[in-house]
Amino acid sequence: MGLIYLFTGNGKGKTEAGIGMAVRARGQGNRVVFIQFMKGLPTGEIEPLKELGVEVYRFGTENFVDFKNPSKEDVELAHKGLEKARELAKEKPFLIVLDEINVAVAANLIDTEEVLDFLKTIPDETNVLLTGRYAKKELLDAADLVTEMKEIKHYFKKGVPAKEGIDY
Ligand code: ATP
Ligand code: MG
Repeated sequence: MGLIYLFTGNGKGKTEAGIGMAVRARGQGNRVVFIQFMKGLPTGEIEPLKELGVEVYRFGTENFVDFKNPSKEDVELAHKGLEKARELAKEKPFLIVLDEINVAVAANLIDTEEVLDFLKTIPDETNVLLTGRYAKKELLDAADLVTEMKEIKHYFKKGVPAKEGIDY
């Protein structure tokens, strides 16, 4: 089995670090699949990643997911995302990034067990990165590398809105 990486925590930089991993892996000539969960609105990394030859898939609506009462569509889309990962894993890419999958699990869109089952099936050649805050203990346990981004300060707290080109 390849290695399992996990970036979590409440500080900024989890998705950005995932983009960095994708770029580096691609730069060494590897096949990289980048799947985003719970994201429908356009973000700055998508087109540049595609231009680098990273295979990007997005599964989400333009609306925020209601954690207490996620919609059927949210649940279906998250499952489609995991299904896409399963399907592409069979082709043994070097890296599969599952961006925000930890949040999709925390929001009850996907069961922890479903992710663990997926991780058990990944080929030797394939490494997997799980990103997102609120990572479940079972996923932390399954990972070979865990990094926690910890908020020390974020301008959001003083009312500065998300910045285009930096936050999305
Ligand atoms: P980024 O996409 O910038 O790497 P992230 O993946 O670590 O951030 P998420 O939890 O996915 O963070 O949240 C995405 C958005 O929330 C980004 O716009 C990010 O700047 C912002 N954000 C991240 N951490 C915080 C925080 N502690 N307080 C408020 N907003 C945050
Ligand atoms: Mg993120």
